[in-house]
Amino acid sequence: MPTDQYEFGDPTTRYPVISPPVQQQPEPGLQSQMTPVPDLGEDSYRGSGRLTGRKALITGADSGIGAAVAIAFAREGADVTLSYLPAEESDARHVIEVIEAAGRKAIAVPGDLTSREYCRELVAAAVEGMGGLDTVVNVAGKQVWQPTLDDLSEDQFEETFRTNVFAMFSIVKAALPHLRPGSTIINTASLEAYVPAPDRLDYASTKGAINNLSKGLAQQLIPKGIRVNVVAPGPTWTALQVSRGVDPETLPDFGSSESPMGRAAQPAELAPAYVFLASAESSFVVGDTLNVNGGMVTP
Ligand code: NAD
Ligand code: MG
Repeated sequence: MPTDQYEFGDPTTRYPVISPPVQQQPEPGLQSQMTPVPDLGEDSYRGSGRLTGRKALITGADSGIGAAVAIAFAREGADVTLSYLPAEESDARHVIEVIEAAGRKAIAVPGDLTSREYCRELVAAAVEGMGGLDTVVNVAGKQVWQPTLDDLSEDQFEETFRTNVFAMFSIVKAALPHLRPGSTIINTASLEAYVPAPDRLDYASTKGAINNLSKGLAQQLIPKGIRVNVVAPGPTWTALQVSRGVDPETLPDFGSSESPMGRAAQPAELAPAYVFLASAESSFVVGDTLNVNGGMVTP
């Protein structure tokens, strides 16, 4: 593990190649119960004032990529409103402690993103709790593997779209009246947007939709001075994977067989991409998808 994100070195060995044991938790899964526990950058992310004074709303902020982003944002000087499911309170408490230790505000707003009312309440609570909103980061996602179309129910198909696409739409719609010029929106797609796994038809197609919707929205909002961009992660070791996200038998090879990098990413390695897109450094980057996938070729 590097001492911080600025340390140079061989990226293939920057984090260990993991071979997680077969394990399974009910959705949404607790990161604290995983073997090994993912690295959120608690001991390595070093801030340098890149988001000083920003007010960020982050979904899925209790664990995995969203939690790593929340920690990085706080260390860069941002206050953070965290969205997560009530069942994930213990994971969220860990992240809130790290944010508060960085001297930033953490506003916890647990709830279910499949509810439009919650999406609206979340934005209202963020604006109220932080005294405004200028950074909206949609990271939450549902991924449940199903081997065949027969196994994939219409209910699951709908719930995946509600969680991954509709919630993002409702949050952005509710946030827009509060976003001044200079605000940024970052959505989370996936390698699956380009390379859909046959046992994740619902999930992969939401990721294609997120990419497409973000690019259209970026064009609509840039005249208002609001930038929209996307991060598309590749295989990353998170709770999603051990809570029915993939076939549990494949966990020992997670990320190591498909990626040219030969290993899965840790959530800590995803956070800098979000920091870049949220910061003023990316002022001319609009409607783009930043792939952080270990070298897999995308269009
Ligand atoms: P994760 O399980 O740690 O985070 C996903 C979060 O989504 C959960 O913590 C939960 O808080 C939230 N969530 C799910 N359903 C919800 C609901 N109904 N209401 C409220 N919150 C809900 O896993 P992660 O891998 O860090 O996932 C973050 C994002 O990264 C997802 O959008 C995922 O699709 C994307 N992604 C992950 C990978 C990977 O390999 N892990 C690869 C590509 C994209
Ligand atoms: Mg979680």
